[in-house]
Amino acid sequence: MMPKLPGGSPEPAFRRPDLSRRLNRSRILLAIRRHAPVTRQGLEQITGLAAGTVQVIVDELLAEGLLVAARVPAAGASGRGRPRLLLELNSRAALIAGVGVFGPDRMQFEIADLGGGRIAALESSTPLPGSGPALADAIAGGLDQLAGQAGVAIGDLAGVGVGLPGLVDSVSGVVRWAPGIVAESYPLADVLQARLGVPVNVDNTANVAARAEYWFSEPRTDDFAVVLVGQGVGMGFYVAGALVTGPAGMAGEIGHMKMGLNSPIRCVCGAWDCVTAHVSQASIVRQGLGLGFEGRPDNWRAATNEVLARAQSGDPRITAILDGAAGVLGKAVANVATLIGPARIVIQFEAGVMAGLMGPALTRAFEAQVLPQIRERTELVLRPGLSSLGHGAAAFALERIYAGPQI
Ligand SMILES: [Zn+2]
Repeated sequence: MMPKLPGGSPEPAFRRPDLSRRLNRSRILLAIRRHAPVTRQGLEQITGLAAGTVQVIVDELLAEGLLVAARVPAAGASGRGRPRLLLELNSRAALIAGVGVFGPDRMQFEIADLGGGRIAALESSTPLPGSGPALADAIAGGLDQLAGQAGVAIGDLAGVGVGLPGLVDSVSGVVRWAPGIVAESYPLADVLQARLGVPVNVDNTANVAARAEYWFSEPRTDDFAVVLVGQGVGMGFYVAGALVTGPAGMAGEIGHMKMGLNSPIRCVCGAWDCVTAHVSQASIVRQGLGLGFEGRPDNWRAATNEVLARAQSGDPRITAILDGAAGVLGKAVANVATLIGPARIVIQFEAGVMAGLMGPALTRAFEAQVLPQIRERTELVLRPGLSSLGHGAAAFALERIYAGPQI
């Protein structure tokens, strides 16, 4: 039973011993990942944890096989005294898998080791019929194929992470809304977990991209946001080294922020004036082809290529549409920076050419509207392409092993 404080309220989570132990373990694992090879004394200095705490957790990680230790002579000219242990992650201690779903016709699968090193990867472009069970079948089938190629048994994986565009409750692993991919609310994590026999986590594409940034980008930072511009617009962000998800796993829905402007089309959520209605690839294609909200091109990919090719050849009408969208996105991102004060904001464009086409107007709008003191300390990065979604999803499974905190 949960301990009670006077007045009957439950004891705060941060006072629970299991949570504080989990956080300390996570801090030590992260410190080893960033600073290896490192001694116990080094870990005490980096984490600020007491010697006894570091010793207990390091012994536990060594016993679990997550760390390897090399014995080296003591420091100092004489080399006398107790030998030191240099600690490193045992990358081969566990394998994990990631599945990135870009849309109804593109998925990425990856198997990685504990250090995030890629072991095997494959891509599938088989169209999904747009139902939860069909998505689960496609994910299980792709993982089977990849595991077979890599000579790995799925049951031996330490975890599987899945990222897909839409509204996902990452706590329960239920996909609430993913247009074109899952028609109605679907418990994807539970279904896959029962089928594969390993822990499965599911989250939206933006949070998965944020995880990839946290685990794999250099220079490392604990405070940043990743904004994705594709068929929709999404955002994942970290504050003080923790992914901010909110209680339902839906924090950071930048795509549905209202901008106080007349939007050219209606958002997929039904409202007018959402960032998505101004900025998404779907909006730009609809505007470029003169389609209304209900209008759909026969082939989104071909239509997107056509509109962006016209922009590249200098068509003034498309250029004006992109400049308008860039201005709205710059303002939205400026507001995010002013709100959370991150060290870095990364904007990733699924259609890579959009980074170049929208970059100058976007940067101008951002710089004009962010608080100057925050602008000085915030790096704005525009990144073409979204090639590493499978890798980010693998980082999601990695995070589970590291047991990082979520707030
Ligand atoms: Zn909306």
